[in-house]
Amino acid sequence: MKQESKIPYKIYLEESEMPTSWYNMRADMKNKPAPLLNPGTLKPMTFEELTGVFCDDLVRQELDDTTPYIEIPEEIRNFYRMYRPSPLVRAYCLEEKLQTPAKIYYKFEGNNTSGSHKLNSAIAQAYYAKKQGLKGVTTETGAGQWGTALSMACAYLGLDCKVYMVKVSYEQKPFRREVMRTYGASVTPSPSMETAVGRKILAEHPGTTGSLGCAISEAVEVATTNEGYRYVLGSVLNQVLLHQSVIGLESKAAMDKYGIVPDVIIGCAGGGSNLGGLIAPFMGEKLRGERDYRIIAVEPASCPSFTRGKFAYDFCDTGMICPLAKMYTLGSGFIPSPNHAGGLRFHGMSTILSQLYHDGLMEATSVEQTAVFEAAEQFARVEGILPAPESAHAIRVAMDEALKCKETGEEKTILFGLTGTGYFDLVAYEKFHDGEMSDYIPTDADLQKGFDGIPKFPGNEF
Ligand SMILES: *Cc1c(COP(=O)(O)O)cnc(C)c1O
Repeated sequence: MKQESKIPYKIYLEESEMPTSWYNMRADMKNKPAPLLNPGTLKPMTFEELTGVFCDDLVRQELDDTTPYIEIPEEIRNFYRMYRPSPLVRAYCLEEKLQTPAKIYYKFEGNNTSGSHKLNSAIAQAYYAKKQGLKGVTTETGAGQWGTALSMACAYLGLDCKVYMVKVSYEQKPFRREVMRTYGASVTPSPSMETAVGRKILAEHPGTTGSLGCAISEAVEVATTNEGYRYVLGSVLNQVLLHQSVIGLESKAAMDKYGIVPDVIIGCAGGGSNLGGLIAPFMGEKLRGERDYRIIAVEPASCPSFTRGKFAYDFCDTGMICPLAKMYTLGSGFIPSPNHAGGLRFHGMSTILSQLYHDGLMEATSVEQTAVFEAAEQFARVEGILPAPESAHAIRVAMDEALKCKETGEEKTILFGLTGTGYFDLVAYEKFHDGEMSDYIPTDADLQKGFDGIPKFPGNEF
């Protein structure tokens, strides 16, 4: 084993070295992400309009394009201390297995009961809802990680939590549902008959297995029609990327301790929150011209927002009741095939990452499902951790980059985000082992149907 004497397998930070502020990349972006638009007036959403849906303090964060550092309230830091700092691991075993000269590091966010990075933003969003004196929050969940994280945060703070869970995941992952109920959340499969928008979607697409876009519409409807409730979202929004910057800040602090500088930074991209969080301080340096990094977003070939989507204003939800966001999108009507990486099935992408990608500051690639599970299995066998299928997208590309180094002899330093564990994804692993996994890739005609639903108005040409 080639362990370098000075770099341990796991680099931990002391509690005293944990970040006390989140970092807001927007402050250093020359081209700011485009503002959310009111779909009725096509004017930027105002603070007043947004606070009908979201908590006041979170709207302030959402609209803040200028403050680089935003203090993490003490209560949230205390909650973080229960499961953070998360380890930065040097993947010595994987390097040996691949026989690569590359140095591979991963930041592991699965060390908490929700099993993913989502808890970092869940506790922040629940905290601000509580601070505002609300009764509860509503949300959607795809694979279930976000719903689980939010139910944990709500239980901790004594808030009610109503979760709309994409039907395909609800059926595939009954144990996720039970974890959420253990933490006191109510869980409804989406689309449901409980909401006007759910009934409409079911009438138009009978038998649909649902999508994140549908579930968002239902959760927003419930939040806006029930007094004392607000809607919270587990990804995509600027505020979520802000909270997730704790991942990157810790990674950078740990690397700085040993003078390690990554050449390539890789993360899976569903709505963009873990990737946006992981890259935040590195991208900050890049934006300020201090240092250059290669940054790669990895998405499933079945839901290729960056690599095949359009950069345009679009709805974030299928019911078209949410604000318009300028992002790489497949169209809000796009319902991906039931890919098992539930957390990567969203049709759109963070507006921040979309702008960075549009400006050539990061790259994107897409990978097929069976190749992802091959990587997941190899990784599990040598590094021990059973990865979430979403995370395995990043593993796939990190391994591919390391294998390229083997050919070229380059000793690149690779950092990737290992966002979570896959204990609730064993139906997907089972399909993979039984050779029943399909690699459905949408055709151009499939995608065109989604693009046809992108709203058309002057300035929104794509
Ligand atoms: C939700 C989720 C993702 C994808 O969401 P992002 O907002 O793109 O980070 C990735 N990995 C895991 C484990 C998740 O739960």
